[in-house]
Amino acid sequence: MTEPLPIDGSYGEGGGQILRTALALSVHLKRPIHLFNLRAHRDRPGLRRQHLSCVLAAAEISQAEIQGAEIGSREIYFAPRSLHPGRYTFDIGTAGSTTLLLQTLLLPLLLAEAPSRLILRGGTHNSKAPPFEFLAQAFLPLLARMGGQVNLRLERPGFYPRGGGILEAEIEPVTRLQPLTLPERGQVLTMHARALVADLPRRIAEREIETLAHALGLPPANLTIEERPGLGPGNVVIVTVRCEHLTEVFTGFGERRVRAETVADHLATEVKEYLATGAAVGPHLADQLLLPLALAGGGRFLTTPPTLHTTTNIWVIEQFLPLRFHLRQENHRRFWIELTNSVRW
Ligand code: ATP
Repeated sequence: MTEPLPIDGSYGEGGGQILRTALALSVHLKRPIHLFNLRAHRDRPGLRRQHLSCVLAAAEISQAEIQGAEIGSREIYFAPRSLHPGRYTFDIGTAGSTTLLLQTLLLPLLLAEAPSRLILRGGTHNSKAPPFEFLAQAFLPLLARMGGQVNLRLERPGFYPRGGGILEAEIEPVTRLQPLTLPERGQVLTMHARALVADLPRRIAEREIETLAHALGLPPANLTIEERPGLGPGNVVIVTVRCEHLTEVFTGFGERRVRAETVADHLATEVKEYLATGAAVGPHLADQLLLPLALAGGGRFLTTPPTLHTTTNIWVIEQFLPLRFHLRQENHRRFWIELTNSVRW
């Protein structure tokens, strides 16, 4: 058996993303891995339910041999055998993020030899994870530009702590991804704000929308309030910035004891900061585009200053593949992230 590649889960951000990127690359490259110090920088380190679901689902699609796959585990061995695209249903069993589970499975299945259809049950709008709208409107259109066709449907939203959301992904395989170049975002064409409440007073959404409309100067036609009774409690507020060359999506998550105005104010600040930089790619999109770029063997984009998630994800990818991402600062608000002269994987 090939020696497992050691990956230190305490590197940089020291969170769940190290696990997900490592699993995705392990499955794709059929490379056994030994992950240790898992989620070392989190309050409750080791595998939580959402991360365990990622390990088990990645093992199922790749017939992997696994050791240490249990809640709380800080160390796993994962040795994939062969990739099996197809129809799968994975139920996280809690409100754990289905979009992060998809992040683990998507790229290997996209580069597989046959289509896949995934039904994922759990949370679809979790704080500190991409919400469905971010994947559907920001990430997947860029992946499509690279040749990766994924049809994502939100069957039912799921919020923390109740869960019960359903996400459905149809993945059309592609033999190789094309490099992506995003040097600018172009003109902002439209900006839209949408607040969603489930089993919470409509007034929360109204206050969020009023705050955003004022802070971002949005006209009534670009504001939406949506009520989804029976699925909550849950509250999420989303700003979609449609530009000439891409769409960016920013999200605020309602929390107990945090005023609706505060949630909306933070979100407005995030959007304004993005707009002020003039960069194409926002901070979350940046860390999530790295894996597609690496598998395409090239590409570059102009982005906001790299987060620890981004630099950590670069490090993980570079443990697996003989390539180098270059970070070049253009000014204090913008960076180039570039991958050149690399072979495709
Ligand atoms: P933990 O670190 O507790 O294990 P985790 O498993 O959620 O948490 P992280 O390492 O924090 O993992 O990674 C979170 C991922 O979710 C990153 O890819 C980040 O870009 C993405 N993300 C977080 N918030 C948003 C958001 N509002 N919009 C889009 N993507 C987001």
